[in-house]
Order: sequence, then C-alpha cells, then structure tokens
Amino acid sequence: MNQKDEKSKIWFNGDFINWWDAKIHVMSHVVHYGSCFFEGIRCYKTPKGPAILRLEDHIKRLFDSARIYHAEIPYSIDEIVSVCKEIVKVNNMESAYIRPIALRGYNTLGVDPLKCPFDLYVATLDWGRYLGEEALEQGVDVCVSSWNRFRPNTLPSLAKAGGNYINSQLIKMEAMRKGYSEGIALDANGYISEGSGENIFIVRNGKIYTPTAYGSSILPGLTRDMAIEIAKLLDYEVVETSIQREVLYVADEVFFTGTAAEITPVRSVDNLKVGVGKRGPVTEKIQKYFFDLIDLKVEDKFGWLDFVK
Ligand code: PMP
Repeated sequence: MNQKDEKSKIWFNGDFINWWDAKIHVMSHVVHYGSCFFEGIRCYKTPKGPAILRLEDHIKRLFDSARIYHAEIPYSIDEIVSVCKEIVKVNNMESAYIRPIALRGYNTLGVDPLKCPFDLYVATLDWGRYLGEEALEQGVDVCVSSWNRFRPNTLPSLAKAGGNYINSQLIKMEAMRKGYSEGIALDANGYISEGSGENIFIVRNGKIYTPTAYGSSILPGLTRDMAIEIAKLLDYEVVETSIQREVLYVADEVFFTGTAAEITPVRSVDNLKVGVGKRGPVTEKIQKYFFDLIDLKVEDKFGWLDFVK
C-alpha cells in the first residue's frame, strides 16, 4: 500500500468510506478461519480512458466463490460491476488494481460462518508489475514447490477464498527463500497444477499445453482463458490436460498467466533453462496480442475491455 492508496475511498456495503475507516474487529470470523472471497481485477490506462479487463467475469467468479461456501452476496452482478467502475472514477485513477472482497464479519466465533454478517468491500490499489517490470521480457526463475495444491474434496480450488491462500503463501515463501521468483505446485496426483497466484502454460513442439480447468486443482484464471483464446486465434493448438512434472524440464517455452502477473515468461525451472533461457517466440506473440488489445492496437473482438466512462 502506498500513500496514494491510503487517501483513496473504499466502497463498503453501499457507501464510499475513507481508507482508514474500512476496519474490522479482530474477533471477526474471517480473521480466524479465512472465510472471505475476493477478486483481483486490473483496470488499464488506454488511449480511450481507463478500461477494466474481464470485469463481469471476475464478478461472476466472486459470486461463484461465495456460492460454493453457501454465502449470498446481497447485490446483483450488475450492481457490483457498476461499483467497480464507480470506485475507479471516485478515486480518480487512470489504472488500478481493483480488489472486491466479501467477508464473514463479527458475531460468533464458532466455525459455522452463517450467523456472521457477510460484508462486501471494494478497494483500489495503485499497483505495478507483480513479478517485476523486467520479468515480462526477461522471464522469471521458478522452482517446483515441495508443497502441493489441495487434493480435490479438501479445499475447493474453484473458489477464490482467502483460506486457500495460506497454501499459496507456503509455495511463495519456499520459492523466495530458495532464491526463485515463484513456485509451481503439483496437484495431489503429482501433475502440474499452478503457481501461488498464476496459471501455467507449456509450449512443446509447437503445441501449447495447460492443466485442465476442472481437474488439476487450479483456479481457472481469466488471464488463462484469454491466453487460450489468443493462442487459438493465432492458430496454435491448445491442449488442456494432465501434465507430468518433467514436461517442464523439456519444454520449449513456459509462461505464467494471471491478473497480477499478466503474461510472464518463465526462463528456468529448478535451475534448468527453459528453451534458450529467455522469452520464447510463442510466448512473445501471445503476450504482444494481449498488450496490443489493452492498448487498443488490435480490435477487442471478444469484448474483454469495459470502459469506465
Ligand atoms: N491461480 C491462483 C491461485 C490465483 O490466485 C490467480 C490470480 N487470481 C490465478 C490463478 C490467475 O487468475 P486470473 O487470471 O483470473 O487472475
């Protein structure tokens, strides 16, 4: 958080409140049990003003996350879409990272969350490149994590729930402690799952592979979805399948996708160079199309951008 963030407003249950007034009690359910659902959404500066990427789809995912945990957000998807646009205007931002978060608040401390109020906040942050400015071109060094993603029927990976990120924290901390930028977690069966906050793609012999949306313990990312659509548009074959770990070591290219990470090349895995050890041509083409779309240099034929004004 920076000083600009701290002067901004946060939307809370229908009102815009000051940053420092968006507080919860330490005995709130969410603090103890991770009972919250959130989104990370990017609003980009474009030649036609700020535009939010995949806004409605992010809000739909927020509602899905809540639904998986028997929580009802007392607004419509359209209302929250409008709130996200409104907060960018209220905070006078040209670009922003938007963070809607619905959480279980203060009432009882039993594990049952249903008696606790369910509050919705939408905040904005002034955020740069997640894995560093250089990473988009140079790529990042990553490792395979010793931590797995959750086994199916333990924690639902389709829900972007706060509690899930305790697993992400283990993956991220281990990677950083060993000197890598990020870790790739395997699923409970030993197949590749995802990074701590990114989906993963592998290019080998001209084909693009990515773990399955509903069978690899991943959060099916919206950037993942865009990378798949862009790749198909560029005439690449995209295969969604279970992928063994060693494919990472013989890949021609590997890249991450995520709202925060955008499309970031991976240049080494476990100290083994990926391809020639820098961003590969397929990654570059997909990345270029992605950023050209945001810069309005190519037509947004998918309707992914939602202009704030
Ligand atoms: N997996 C995890 C665990 C994440 O936290 C994220 C970031 N939301 C992603 C994948 C990528 O999702 P998206 O492209 O929708 O940001």
